[in-house]
Amino acid sequence: MGQPRMAEKDNGIRMMCPNLTCRKVLAVPTSARGRTVRCKACGTAIRVPQAKAEGEGPNPRKSA
Ligand SMILES: [Zn+2]
Repeated sequence: MGQPRMAEKDNGIRMMCPNLTCRKVLAVPTSARGRTVRCKACGTAIRVPQAKAEGEGPNPRKSA
């Protein structure tokens, strides 16, 4: 069983609409990284983040 984790491979990226009155979960392709997409529900422009660091912290670099 070599199933990959539920990561953002070719399945795209899932983001929640920042519009608090919408909050729709959008699935965007990984090719949309760094671009702006529009929520299909409310039309809010959402910036697709670049590949996130594995640290998931503000400072992925270790200062050790
Ligand atoms: Zn929306």
